Amino acid sequence: MANIYKRKIIPYSRHFIDKNDINSVVNVLKSDFLTTGPTVKIFEKKISKFCGSKFSICVSNASAGLHLACLALGLTKKDIVWTSGITFVSSINSALHCNSKIDLVDIDKDDFNISIKNLKEKLKIAKSLKKLPKVLIVVHLGGVSCKMKEIYKLSKQYKFKIVEDASHAFGSKYDGKHVGNCKYSEMAIFSFHPVKTFTTGEGGVVTTNKSDIAKKIYSLREHGLIRDKNKFSDKNQGAWYYEQQNLGFNYRMSDIHAALGVSQLKKLKKFVKRRNEIAKIYKKELNNYPIKFQNLNNNLSSYHLLIVKFPKVYHHKMFDLFRNKNIKVNIHYIPLYMHPFFKFNKKKYSNNLKNSQEYYDTAISLPNYFHITNKEIYYVINIIKKFFNKKNKMISIK
Ligand SMILES: *Cc1c(COP(=O)(O)O)cnc(C)c1O
Repeated sequence: MANIYKRKIIPYSRHFIDKNDINSVVNVLKSDFLTTGPTVKIFEKKISKFCGSKFSICVSNASAGLHLACLALGLTKKDIVWTSGITFVSSINSALHCNSKIDLVDIDKDDFNISIKNLKEKLKIAKSLKKLPKVLIVVHLGGVSCKMKEIYKLSKQYKFKIVEDASHAFGSKYDGKHVGNCKYSEMAIFSFHPVKTFTTGEGGVVTTNKSDIAKKIYSLREHGLIRDKNKFSDKNQGAWYYEQQNLGFNYRMSDIHAALGVSQLKKLKKFVKRRNEIAKIYKKELNNYPIKFQNLNNNLSSYHLLIVKFPKVYHHKMFDLFRNKNIKVNIHYIPLYMHPFFKFNKKKYSNNLKNSQEYYDTAISLPNYFHITNKEIYYVINIIKKFFNKKNKMISIK
């Protein structure tokens, strides 16, 4: 039988599964627990240890985690939530699920994360209009941490709460410490979708240091049920008793998924190391070409995404060229103001969020994942080199 899994394309990212991962999942399949049980607990403990957070609450996916984060902070329709102009839709859908109003902050041209300068200006105006956000959802794009100290300072000055959409940043560091330690935020949310740095198939986690937030999220993850008998409104019931005190969801992670996570987490540092090596090759080889790499601000990136900017005039052409060569590059992301559902004034926002628009007009995520071969990387690199060498020749002939 032909191997139907044989890859003919080079994706921008891909999961890596080995025998240990398979055995770990099979062991759970043979055990007493399939849904949330002992393996989720073990996985949560390991995540807390890795990230340096007091609590970790596993959820069915990062979007669910972001939704619970917004609920745990008590967001309602009276509140305003801000996020980056360039992020995945679920960063802001979480606030819309709480009926909150939303707005966008422009990004920095060099690190592609929320621009501190723009944030400062926007906060100043919002204060005078009495329209300050209750929550700012920051996004560590591609795995590069936002400038958390600066944002934290502003959060104290303007009294908003910080949630980290750290979907890209498991294994990344800020100021020498792993993202997810929540030193400068209420919570961080990671995604374990297969394209991210490591996977559980589908899955996510919320990390926090605050026990009241952790308790809320544990409860909301399971329909809003309370199992702590000290918290019951009716204390005269038997051992079977539990109470619903809030409206929650079934956002649990299963032990099957957690088993894959426990085994994958052992390889995480190796994954991040290899992704950094690959980035180094791209940077070295393309040094003399008109390509701009994301600024890491001297922090360690998980390199979930290897984002580069091409000159605007060649951007569309480069994208099509890669796709025609079976290299499944992608654009992360279409600016949020482009999506009709959010009802932003597209023209106004593309004018005001200049860096987000420039990013959209130039950025492409190139292939970068643990088991991509050097041959494949050079195949991608040579396509870029050839394209620009040809352009140069044409210019010099003219
Ligand atoms: C992947 C991603 C999410 C959603 O993750 P899921 O686990 O698929 O729900 C949210 N935000 C960002 C920035 C992402 O890249």
